[in-house]
Amino acid sequence: RRAAFAASKNEPSITRDGTKITLMVNAGLRDDVSALDVTGADGIGLFRTEFQFLVSATLPQREKQQRLYREVMEAAGDRPVVFRTVDIGGDKALPYMRLDEEGQEENPAMGWRALRVALEREGLMKAQARALIEAAAGRTLNVMFPMVSEPWEFDQAKALFEAQRAWLASRNRMPPTAIRYGAMLEVPALAECLDILLPNLDFLSVGTNDLTQFLFAADRAHPKLAERYDWLSPAILRFLRRLVAPVHDAGVQLAVCGEMGGRPLEAMALIGLGINRLSITPVAIGPVKAMLRSLDRAALAPVINGLLDRPPADMRAALRDWAVQNGV
Ligand code: PEP
Ligand code: MG
Repeated sequence: RRAAFAASKNEPSITRDGTKITLMVNAGLRDDVSALDVTGADGIGLFRTEFQFLVSATLPQREKQQRLYREVMEAAGDRPVVFRTVDIGGDKALPYMRLDEEGQEENPAMGWRALRVALEREGLMKAQARALIEAAAGRTLNVMFPMVSEPWEFDQAKALFEAQRAWLASRNRMPPTAIRYGAMLEVPALAECLDILLPNLDFLSVGTNDLTQFLFAADRAHPKLAERYDWLSPAILRFLRRLVAPVHDAGVQLAVCGEMGGRPLEAMALIGLGINRLSITPVAIGPVKAMLRSLDRAALAPVINGLLDRPPADMRAALRDWAVQNGV
């Protein structure tokens, strides 16, 4: 099977009935970029910039950040890379940076992390913005903010980047050809304010890892809870279903970048709901591509909608049965 997946890297990721599904990889280190050539993926849909911070003994300086971002973009060539600004704090603690000034956090996942830190520690965010903008000279920069909970947080982060862009332009530095701004949707509250958010952004990427833990109020790292709530549960699939039309109608790109999309049956469900961009762990590209190339998306769409209108006791079993009966 492994050999078959490797051989499929040059096959297009198109469903049996002709829908192109953009398959990208999640990455975080310089060497992860080689996954693009190994898998034949369309780009990097999530580059977790905090990895560089987590593996460093000291805070990585702007020049060092910039070097990494440029190397990653150069290695990716004309394939897009979506850089996520640092998602630190919470359980991703940095030994050289004290973020627990209010004391140890009881609920770090819901704590002072990601954009919440970045908007307050402006120096950190400004340095990263400059590093990204300078690294993307002459290219398109795709930047995405983690843990956006309310639209103003996105607006403020975007404004900070735009101010850095203007400052660098005033210094006659070669600018990026474009900056595309995105938000991660991983805090459920954001979904209730999509109408406010959508006019201001270019893409939205659903982080199903955090989204699931927040929807179910279930710690994603807790061994007793890890298997308890199914990604194919009606709650998650209905939540995702409600996003698709408004996001696409606003002309905003919609992707899923959580682990969910790397499991073939889950990916099938997402595609059935109309999601056509997935960013997944590199080893999942082969199996997901094999699945979608055998999938008749138009046949699945009404089936999954019907199942979600009147959910069976075992949604997973119902989807698996459909897949088996339909040669997926
Ligand atoms: C997610 O939350 O789904 C996600 C992709 O981000 P991370 O796993 O880095 O929190
Ligand atoms: Mg997350």
